[in-house]
Order: sequence, then C-alpha cells, then structure tokens
Amino acid sequence: MAVERLATGDVMAGPGAYSFGDEERAEVLDVLSTGHLSRYGDLSDPAFKHKVYSLEREFADYLPVKHALATNSGTAALLISLLALGIGDGDEVLVPGFTYVASIAAIVHARAVPVLVEVDESLTIDPADARRKITSKTRAVMAVHMLGNPCDMAALGDLADEYGLHIVEDVAQAAGGSFHGRRLGTFGTTGAFSFNRYKMMAAGEGGLLVSDDDDLYERAFALHDQGHSPLRASKTMPAAGLLGLNFKMSELTGAVALAQLRKLDAMLSALRTRKALLRGAIAEMPGVGFRRLNDVVGECATMLTLVFDDAHYARKVAQRVGSPTLAESGWHVYSHMTQVGGHRTPVEGWSAPARFAAPGDLPNTDDLLRRSLNISIGVVDAGLGAAFGINIRSTAAEIETAADRLTEACRTV
Ligand SMILES: *Cc1c(COP(=O)(O)O)cnc(C)c1O
Repeated sequence: MAVERLATGDVMAGPGAYSFGDEERAEVLDVLSTGHLSRYGDLSDPAFKHKVYSLEREFADYLPVKHALATNSGTAALLISLLALGIGDGDEVLVPGFTYVASIAAIVHARAVPVLVEVDESLTIDPADARRKITSKTRAVMAVHMLGNPCDMAALGDLADEYGLHIVEDVAQAAGGSFHGRRLGTFGTTGAFSFNRYKMMAAGEGGLLVSDDDDLYERAFALHDQGHSPLRASKTMPAAGLLGLNFKMSELTGAVALAQLRKLDAMLSALRTRKALLRGAIAEMPGVGFRRLNDVVGECATMLTLVFDDAHYARKVAQRVGSPTLAESGWHVYSHMTQVGGHRTPVEGWSAPARFAAPGDLPNTDDLLRRSLNISIGVVDAGLGAAFGINIRSTAAEIETAADRLTEACRTV
C-alpha cells in the first residue's frame, strides 16, 4: 500500500515518490535489521543484504544490458560516463539546449566543451542540427530523453556511426521507456539514470550507469570508488592505477531503489492509462496540438505536452492553469544557464567557455519552448513547467476535472 500522502507535505514529486509504500519500507528495514549499510560485503553472509548489488543485477537484467553501476546521483553517472570514455580537455560534446542543467554541468566538469544543439518538435535533440554542429573535436552526443520522450535513436545512431561518436544517454527522466521496442539506456556506449524525487524511480537521491562494454564498466567502477576494481571484497590496494573519487550508493538507498525498480512496469502502465484518459477527455481545440513523440508506445507518459500555434496563446493558458510555459522552466532552458547571473565554469581557463551559449543562439528551441505547456501526468514539478495536471494516483474523476479545467482555460483565453 502506498502512503496516504507524501510525508513532506510537498506534492511536487514524480511517480516513484508517489508510489512509496510498504515494499520500500520492508527493504529498508531488512538492511536496518543488520546494520550493514555500505555496498560491499560477502554475498554468502546472511547478515549482508546486498541491496545495491541486487539493484545492479536486476536493473541490468531489466534493460537488458551487461553492466549496471549504482551511483549516488544521476549527475555522477553522467560525469563518470564522460570520464570513463576518456572525454576531457578540449573535446566537444553535443547536448540539447533543453535539458536539466546537470547534463551540461557534467560536460563542463569533465573539462570538455558543451556544444548546444536545438531541440525539434519532440523537445529532444534535433539530429539535423546535431549534424551541423559536428567538428573535428566532437567526441560524443548526449541523448537526453527529455520529459519521458525517447530521442530519435535511429537518426542519432546513424550520426554516431557516420562520425565515430559515442552516444551518452541521459535517461534521468525516462527510466523504463523504450524506442522501437528496445529499452532506453541500451543504445549508447553508456546510459545514466537518476533516482531523485522527480524521476520515474525515487530513492531520495541516487543514480545508475549502464554499459555493455566490459572495459568501460571497469573504468567507471574505478572512477566511482577510488580506483578499485568491481565488487572488491577486501581492503587491498586497487590494481587499476586509475585515480577515482567516491560516488558510491549506500545500502539504504539501494534498498529503496530496488523496491522502486520492481514497481517500474506497474508505474509505467498506470501513467500510460492515465495519460490516455486525460488526452481523451480534452476537447479538440484549434491552435493547440501536442509535442511529437518519437515512440508513442515506448514513451514514459510522465507528461502531456501541449504545443500551441502561438506563444501569446500558450502564455495565457499557462497563466490560467497556474503553471509556467516551458520557456520559463528554470534550469532546463539553456538561456537561463548562460545569461548574466547564470552559470560560469568553476575554474577560469577550463576548456568550456564561460558562457556556453547566448540567449537567442537556439531560435527554434526558444520558439518551441515559448509555445509549449507541460501538463503533469506523473511528474509534478513547477520547475519543469508542470505545476498543473494529475499524478500517478489520480482517480478517473480527478482526471476528468483536470481535463475540463484545461479545456476551459484554452477556450476562454
Ligand atoms: C534529474 C536529471 C539529471 C540529474 O540527476 P540527479 O540524480 O539529480 O543528479 C540529469 N539529467 C536530466 C535530464 C535530469 O532530469
């Protein structure tokens, strides 16, 4: 049984957080029953509950992919991905101008250069613009499956093959989603997931990196734990000779994430049902369309995104329902990261330019975001422009009410 209401009293959260219940509690109590809270241990010792290990195994089987590495955040999984690929000083990484700031921050902290790319009507990276921005320094493209909608992995795959680029998938907002029947995270050289409170699976904080590449996995493992080799069982010195940091996940987080993983398919189906209901209940209206979905069946259905013909119309409807347009969605829009008072690189002299791009550099993205409004289906997050809508536990009556309010707002503007 899920909790009656989120204990924080704050209703802004994603599907996983809304689904927290007895299963998560049981896994955490299992860990607390022995007090073995760190990820390493003897798998044959009954006092070691190996939640992080189980999470990695079950997640890898779920996608399926060969290796999964749990981390303490999605941002860490992205940074480790880039470092494990050997991406660094002066290398260029293509990244969409509509993403969470973490995608860009990971590139900067790897000391590479984020090259901002337009999004298309799917609000994911535009493969045609990505192609235009390739230079001799381009090493990778970050495919951000934004708002639960898969990127066009067919086009990006062709591009990557043609130019010998790595694909790093940012699956933070799309765990469980798929493109042409194949799960997201399995297309790239690496894929990075997040378990923060706004994501499909929520564990407070946490992340996970996946890869089919043995060597990359070993490097990633070393980077996430001070140079050690996978699943170290003793205090021996690392042999790899690679200088790592500490991005490990604790057993408490692993326990929650494991219970959430086991609910992932049920959550996706609950979201898809509700999205179909809501969409069916909204009347057809002139001047209002929907974002393109690169995979209608495989998208996560965390959002219903309206795209208006006209920015003024979008803004008015947004005001009516009390939610911002995507152009105003905080640290998700490149121009907010680069304008005066926005982000600079941590250290002067790093490859990344102090301003990654100037407002106006991505005119198509600007235009699309001004005309787009997120209606929450499963991720309720004002920062992502989704303060209005329903959630994963909304009833049929609540869905009806939300649809009526939205139709009304569009009609009276
Ligand atoms: C949430 C998010 C991240 C970062 O994940 P954290 O676990 O919060 O570090 C990265 N990229 C995107 C697109 C996200 O939405």
